[in-house]
Amino acid sequence: MQLPFDNSYARLPERFFSRLAPEPVSQPGPIRVNRPLAEFLGIDADWLGSGEGTEVVAGNRVPEGADPIATVYAGHQFGSWNPQLGDGRALLLGEVIGADGKRYDIQLKGSGRTPYSRMGDGRAPLGPVIREYVVSEAMYALGIPTTRSLAAVTTGDPVYRESALPGGVLARVASSHIRFGTFQFFSSRQDNEALQLLVDHSIERHYPESGDSDNRALALLQQVVARQAALVARWQLVGFIHGVMNTDNMLISGETIDYGPCAFMDDFNAETVYSSIDHGGRYAYQNQPGIAHWNLACFAQTLLPLLDSDENAAVELAQSSIDRFPELFLDAHQSGMGLKLGLTLEGDEDEALVQDLLSVMSESAADFTLTFRALTDRTAAQPGTATVADIFELPDLFSPWLERFEQRAARESQFAGNRREIMSRANPVFIPRNHLVEEAIRAAEDEGDFSVFERLVERLEKPFEYDADDARFALPPRPEQVVRQTFCGT
Ligand code: AMP
Ligand code: MG
Repeated sequence: MQLPFDNSYARLPERFFSRLAPEPVSQPGPIRVNRPLAEFLGIDADWLGSGEGTEVVAGNRVPEGADPIATVYAGHQFGSWNPQLGDGRALLLGEVIGADGKRYDIQLKGSGRTPYSRMGDGRAPLGPVIREYVVSEAMYALGIPTTRSLAAVTTGDPVYRESALPGGVLARVASSHIRFGTFQFFSSRQDNEALQLLVDHSIERHYPESGDSDNRALALLQQVVARQAALVARWQLVGFIHGVMNTDNMLISGETIDYGPCAFMDDFNAETVYSSIDHGGRYAYQNQPGIAHWNLACFAQTLLPLLDSDENAAVELAQSSIDRFPELFLDAHQSGMGLKLGLTLEGDEDEALVQDLLSVMSESAADFTLTFRALTDRTAAQPGTATVADIFELPDLFSPWLERFEQRAARESQFAGNRREIMSRANPVFIPRNHLVEEAIRAAEDEGDFSVFERLVERLEKPFEYDADDARFALPPRPEQVVRQTFCGT
């Protein structure tokens, strides 16, 4: 057996999913296998890249031990309630245990129609497969909790959108695919038994330390609030815009999922939106913490019947748990920003220093990533280390702020000895910039050339180590390369 499956979600009652096989494709072709991830999951990477492994990822062969299911969920999409969603173009093949002893889902995305496809074709064009592979693996390398990409294949079949596009399938890995929307589905049907099963399953998988809690629903809620706060703080600190923070795209595990219209900002502007369908800017960069808070309120609501048999007491528990979000977010953001600046931030003066930095970045439309990297380079730059000085200069507008920064840095005691190291580990130089992702997609879709994609994936594996030979991967886009809009992978 090539995939050591042990499928716990498929052992839940039938109303949690639909059992069905993937729809075969005409001509599976390998694109890439994530070898370290395969090995971590106990999967032979050579096999995964072989003809047989490619057929498994394409959905033409269901491996022994797999129990493919499409899971059901609901959700708020752009604030509007949708009582029935579900895996419309994905199938959970099964679960395996990683080298860390934890359980991981292996899901095929783009594997054909399911009972939840609605009007969709269940397929994914190659472009979104490439985008998700690049960006999810880049997030992993940045140390940000995320679903991952195990392998990608071509299908040989066209996918019809505005035009005919080549199709692909992505094998995605997640600690689980349990969404806020999974809880919402059962909550809206007043199925408390299913909710309890989901709470137990989620705790066992993601929060085993809360297993003995006498109020498991409350323990789960508190943990989910804390992980979301930490996650969104990490997004803000690298300029990541998720783009479609619907409740069905939020995982209980606290991992980033659904790399549809996501993007990293180039110039700093807190109002940035890339998604072509986000007309009101609901999911703009600056709104992400507030939206996460709102999503958590939706999640908390689903747990009310389990929190306390007295309704008022339940509401109070839910409210006090979600009320902790702003503080948890601000703490996580502040300590992360402290690492980026090499300072132990505390007090109003430090707060103003951070706010004024963001203002001057915004006013001068400074590149988000390279600004922090340039600040890193200014801090005890060592002779012989490559700096971004050749490709980026802080705008003149920064001068008064830099003076304050340096005065503050001189008073830093806690990080004093190793500021440069702390800062270079908090400030990536290589991020999946939109124009680079676009370039990889164009080569793959238009020319069937995956070398641009491969090179980008490999370059983004070490985001904190600058190498001047790879300067082109660190550069902001030239005006003609700027990508202003991204599209969902549908
Ligand atoms: P998303 O916007 O990617 O989070 O997807 C929202 C819902 O639409 C989910 O239930 C998806 O499974 C479904 N969906 C998206 N694209 C397709 C497609 N091409 N075919 C079928 N269902 C889809
Ligand atoms: Mg989704």
